[in-house]
Amino acid sequence: MTALPPPNKKKLGLVIDLDTCVGCHACAVACKEWNDGGQFGPLPDNDPYGADPNGVWFNRVHTYELSGLGARDSVFAPGAQHGTGSHTSHEKQELAASDISAPRAPSPESRVPQMVHFPRSCLHCETPDCVTVCPTGASYKRAEDGIVLVDEDKCIGCQLCAWACPYGAREISEQKGTMQKCTLCVDRIYNETLDEEDRRPACVMACPTRARHFGDIGDPDSPISRLIAERGGYDLMPEFGYKPVNKYLPPRPRRDGSRMPAAPVQEEPLDTAQLPPLLRWLDKVLSR
Ligand code: SF4
Ligand code: SF4
Ligand code: SF4
Repeated sequence: MTALPPPNKKKLGLVIDLDTCVGCHACAVACKEWNDGGQFGPLPDNDPYGADPNGVWFNRVHTYELSGLGARDSVFAPGAQHGTGSHTSHEKQELAASDISAPRAPSPESRVPQMVHFPRSCLHCETPDCVTVCPTGASYKRAEDGIVLVDEDKCIGCQLCAWACPYGAREISEQKGTMQKCTLCVDRIYNETLDEEDRRPACVMACPTRARHFGDIGDPDSPISRLIAERGGYDLMPEFGYKPVNKYLPPRPRRDGSRMPAAPVQEEPLDTAQLPPLLRWLDKVLSR
């Protein structure tokens, strides 16, 4: 198993603004283009022109309609909870994929249907199990800036890291038999052959609405940290304890006058002992 480095002040990461992301997929395409030909490529495609195309993407954009929910009622709200029980790794991945559209009780003043575009890539967590479960040291976290990478020469394709990632951020290459993931464009941001203004992640540079920001989240005075503080940036699924470095900025209130609730909605814990016998049995079966 692989050790994490001691905590470091420098924490490079992304901030993604769910208010201004328009779901155009420019970030995903720019990511694929840069990394396909870069140090960490190729990013293979399987059956790209067939009925069921799939392949390796370091960044994917998911679009959800949150029916009857206001911005702060959604799972994107800071402090929103996703249940308190313990989950297997597989359940964690399913939660990551399904929680976004999970129904939430809307507050009466915010029944506004809303489209939310949700870009998803590695969050370069501070204490990720995807690194510690790796049996060969292929998965590692850099001590100097916190970027989480995969050394493909050491990867045996066991996929333990993918099971350990609750965010579904790892991608197995069927062609290479090794794991791949977002590199935070480490081969751009330190690349002295590029002009200084180009030493930023490809996805950040491509975003037409400037919904993506890059910087040192460990420095409280950096522009990205100030943005997080001003806009209430938050961790995705903090209950898993991975301490993601990347942050998301919540959608702002709509211009139609719908109001923000005073506080984020918290789910009440379910007391299964109070349920009728049939529901108790169902809860037991579904909790396995
Ligand atoms: Fe690991 Fe997933 Fe966190 Fe990235 S998002 S560091 S792959 S646990
Ligand atoms: Fe892709 Fe680089 Fe953005 Fe990561 S930081 S999602 S590798 S473009
Ligand atoms: Fe959203 Fe920007 Fe990515 Fe387009 S490029 S999907 S606006 S984050």
